[in-house]
Amino acid sequence: MGVVKTYKTLPKLPRGEKYSNPRISYDGRNWFLSVGYEIEYEKVELTDEKLGIDVGVKELAVVSNGKFYKNVNKTKEVKRLEQKLKREQKQLSRKIEANIIGHTKNRKPIYKTPLKDTKNIQKQNAEIRQLHKKLTDIRTNHLHQCSNEIVKTKPSRIVMECLNIKGMMKNKHLSKAIAKQKLYEFKRQIQYKCQKYGIEFIEADKWFPSSKTCSCCGQIKSDLKLKDRLYVCSCGLELDRDLNASINLENYPI
Ligand SMILES: [Zn+2]
Repeated sequence: MGVVKTYKTLPKLPRGEKYSNPRISYDGRNWFLSVGYEIEYEKVELTDEKLGIDVGVKELAVVSNGKFYKNVNKTKEVKRLEQKLKREQKQLSRKIEANIIGHTKNRKPIYKTPLKDTKNIQKQNAEIRQLHKKLTDIRTNHLHQCSNEIVKTKPSRIVMECLNIKGMMKNKHLSKAIAKQKLYEFKRQIQYKCQKYGIEFIEADKWFPSSKTCSCCGQIKSDLKLKDRLYVCSCGLELDRDLNASINLENYPI
């Protein structure tokens, strides 16, 4: 291929150092070159604060300092794009359907024009790729904004729960919503950003009852249902259930 000019200049390395792990990727529109290199993190002064983060489907995250971070998939913009994507996908299948003139014995479609030569189908495909990319960008960008804001409060410790996504994925209703939330990616971002600032990152044990425990008196409410949005305890505590969970994570015993 020879020499390729990059849009942005590559970071300068100390003499003798080399980039590692070069990769080339394509997102439907642009080509990306990514490389690895080592840098020293600058020391950051941390506060005494500890934070617990409860992640979920209703909100992306509820932090024990009282901040709520919204689920971006519930915004108008994302909903509009998803509707558009659905329409374009329907149109694509109509176009493909119109190009079928029959079927082989083992039910494979026979096309009037080979798919790769059909301009209107290829154009439709490109449109759909664009929409997917737009949605992915919005979602990832939202995660970065939220994780940045949380980590930039510079707490000395952040506790998140172990994501039992496999378990949650068994619920068909929830699984789509969870996949779109990219909770693993969110956690990954928090984790590496913590590392950057020297913040201790802790993953709570998966059996830790962060939702069911009263963050005020420690009582455990075993009959808490998913639909109970408010945590009400006999000790008098009445608190948003996710906020209650995040406070329990903040106080996670080590
Ligand atoms: Zn209580």
